[in-house]
Amino acid sequence: MLVDSHCPLDGPKFDADRDEVIQRAIDAGVTRMLAIGTGDGPPDLDVAVRLAEKYSNIWATVGVHPHDAAKWTDECGPLLRERMRHPRVVALGEIGLDYHYDFSPRDQQKRVFIEQLQIAAEAGKPIVIHTREAWDDTFQILRDHWSGSGVMHCFSGGPAEAEKSLEIGFTISYSGIVTYPKAPEIREAALLTPLNRMLVETDAPYLAPAPHRGTRNEPAYVAKTAAFVANLLGVDYEQFCTQTSQNFDALFGSAVLS
Ligand SMILES: [Zn+2]
Repeated sequence: MLVDSHCPLDGPKFDADRDEVIQRAIDAGVTRMLAIGTGDGPPDLDVAVRLAEKYSNIWATVGVHPHDAAKWTDECGPLLRERMRHPRVVALGEIGLDYHYDFSPRDQQKRVFIEQLQIAAEAGKPIVIHTREAWDDTFQILRDHWSGSGVMHCFSGGPAEAEKSLEIGFTISYSGIVTYPKAPEIREAALLTPLNRMLVETDAPYLAPAPHRGTRNEPAYVAKTAAFVANLLGVDYEQFCTQTSQNFDALFGSAVLS
């Protein structure tokens, strides 16, 4: 068994063959997937909920991505609070800060991030963090406004950022980037991440792992990333898959146990 801890499968790139993509994941040993509910931003935050209601091996998040922080309206808070009670919604996310693209003003990204931390805390569910070129502010906000659990999705930092993430109790999710030749820092981070604090993900349709790099990514390929990281750590593949699946259950709760 293996889990893809982060796959936004709602986009148009999967419209033609979504059923086949999900079947290929099952065939590759991927027993569960976490679909990400940020979509194109408000008002539609149900893109993952719809998938989770259709497919028994998919669970969902809801949240407003930092890219979409400028689309936040007064309706978003009540809507997210309501959706967080959905039995197949296991986390709030992905939320955080993205200073690489700066699609939304930074002060607004911070405000929307903090507001959603409050909503996740009320719901008692973990968070999925997206952070890009914004580590200092991300850690500062988490230290000031969050005491629960969460995952650093598609981890793009190095050893220092991994250590800080672990210090605040977070799990770290490695994507296909860890397989890329120009990512030695991410491999160093993986080497110091305890196996019981680690997840793997595709972030499909982006960032396909080697040897699929440059093609559309899909959940079946998480097996390649898992094999790569298991080999890097010198851990048996089956053991790696079992442990990361248990980590997923520990983080996202009994709702994901099938
Ligand atoms: Zn992301």
